[in-house]
Amino acid sequence: MAVGAYEVEEKVSQVDYEKVVKDFGASLIDGSLAKKLDHPLVPEIFFAHRDLDKILANPDGFAVISGRGPSMNMHIGHLLVFKFVKYLQDKFDAFVFLPFSDDEKLLARGLKIEHVLKMSYENLLDMLAIGFDPKKTEVMLDLATLKQEVYNLAIEAASHMTLSTVKAALGFTDDINVGVHFYPAIQAAHILYPTKKLGVPTIVPIGLDQDVFVKLTRDVAPKMGLAKPGDILSKFLPGLTGGKMSSSRPETAIFTSDTPQQIKKKIKDAFTGGLPTAKEQKEKGGNPDVCVVYKYLKVLFGIDFRKQCRSGEYLCGDCKQVLTKHMTKMLEEHQRKKIEAEKNLEKFSPELGKLRDKFGKYKQQSEK
Ligand code: SF4
Repeated sequence: MAVGAYEVEEKVSQVDYEKVVKDFGASLIDGSLAKKLDHPLVPEIFFAHRDLDKILANPDGFAVISGRGPSMNMHIGHLLVFKFVKYLQDKFDAFVFLPFSDDEKLLARGLKIEHVLKMSYENLLDMLAIGFDPKKTEVMLDLATLKQEVYNLAIEAASHMTLSTVKAALGFTDDINVGVHFYPAIQAAHILYPTKKLGVPTIVPIGLDQDVFVKLTRDVAPKMGLAKPGDILSKFLPGLTGGKMSSSRPETAIFTSDTPQQIKKKIKDAFTGGLPTAKEQKEKGGNPDVCVVYKYLKVLFGIDFRKQCRSGEYLCGDCKQVLTKHMTKMLEEHQRKKIEAEKNLEKFSPELGKLRDKFGKYKQQSEK
């Protein structure tokens, strides 16, 4: 099972997380660390780390950074991570940095600037709808307003990264453009910028597949006279079809912009651990361990139907109905907050605020 920054194999339910963590050289979050974080998804989803214990003990606090590659609309897996980041901001009074790897989407995906800016606008509203504190949050947009300090950090980081290290870490071949090879230096600059600016270490909540960027940054940080960043690694939330959740395959994900009809249809078609007939399932029970509906109910809404599933008391239609109800309510509320968030856009990003006339459909809707 391969887990890498540009490739995660399809069967996410088959990932041996303990083995991957061991192979990566990270550590599992133990009981004492979980207690300090005190979050319902630790350690079930946010399960491993690098140096989290040391960074939590830092008397001057720490910053949190979590980036977004704005290629498409955000889905519920993204929302989960940014809600966790907001939780860390509140619990530890931490300054949060939200860098957008918009430039990387041009390099690695061949997207156009116009599209990436539109998605940055949309994705930032999704983040702001979660309620980040404008006094303790900095949004970083490479294509619109790359800071001189970030560029300088990227150049310094690049001077300590060899091409062979980057190629080995990310599996790049010579036919990939030179910008993609350089991009780990930009990622390192994003991650190290809070430390350079505030003088405190940084924690990066990040998907397991992106850990390699933190690892590369940790290698160069001491050479740049900066504290090594730590991270909190998350497991993959499975996609609706049972494999990987992917923005580029709409059938695998529920997007924050989905309508109630789309949500209902997607959940109706979701992969479950049910049996072919209702009769069989009532007799033998279903399998929640492979069931996407079970996982979403538990992770996103804290509802555990394991007993009812195993005993055959509930059939898949019952669970899907409950999930549809909760998901619709959550996303309708989120979409309402997005409309509100657009009013405060300039507080977080004056540059994206200037694009309101072009992309600002939420404001127009709210004014109707
Ligand atoms: Fe999943 Fe519910 Fe069906 Fe069990 S009964 S397999 S939990 S949808």
